[in-house]
Amino acid sequence: MRIPIITANWKMNKTISETEEFITSFLPMVEDASDVDIIIAPPFTSLSDAAGMLRDSNIYLAAQDVFYEDKGAFTGEVSPLMLKDIGCSHVIIGHSERRQFFGETDETVNKKITAAKRHDLEVILCIGESLSERKSGETFNVLERQLSEGLKGIDISSITIAYEPVWAIGTGKTATPEQANDAHRFIRQCIRNIYGDNASMQTRILYGGSVTPENISGLMKMPEIDGALVGGASLRPEGFAGIVRYNRIRP
Ligand code: PEP
Repeated sequence: MRIPIITANWKMNKTISETEEFITSFLPMVEDASDVDIIIAPPFTSLSDAAGMLRDSNIYLAAQDVFYEDKGAFTGEVSPLMLKDIGCSHVIIGHSERRQFFGETDETVNKKITAAKRHDLEVILCIGESLSERKSGETFNVLERQLSEGLKGIDISSITIAYEPVWAIGTGKTATPEQANDAHRFIRQCIRNIYGDNASMQTRILYGGSVTPENISGLMKMPEIDGALVGGASLRPEGFAGIVRYNRIRP
């Protein structure tokens, strides 16, 4: 059985005091949520404080990105060694905003995943098509390329895939549960082709793109959807707790 994962990606939001305020309110809201893995990815500047507050809780800490070298002359970058040192268990790699604004490629994604795994960080690998790629019927080709190039030479254990159609991120346009499920089924088939049956059955595939407390239960009813990566709706404790507790608010 695949345990669901609900992940908050705060992007470039929240100061240290805002992070502390969020965690203080959020922890009691989800302390009895034992049937789901909860992950929060604050900005780098809040990781240390968040790590202190989340220690001994049921919530994992993730970074939103990582560099692929352990140390050296790479101004502005943060290494997997540093993330591990600060208390992260997970890292998001290949988010579409990194690909779109910061020159992330399948090749750098591949190097980052290799480096993260070297330091036992669990990886959430983001893949997804743009609107024009979807319109031109390229969705499955894009997903297959991002997956096979991003994971080239890498064992898939401790990797979660996040399917995030770029046209649904931060736009309020969610993929329908059926659209998301189709993409997830295709992704699972690609994983089966590369890694075999067991790995494909065990790998968790999250959906991301305008997930809210209102649409989460419809998405989570789909057999191929194992959780969510949530941006905007994860910024308020009540909203994110509503998503984490989706099975209790199911209509
Ligand atoms: C994201 O940042 O990964 C994301 C899915 O954002 P949003 O939920 O705001 O669409």
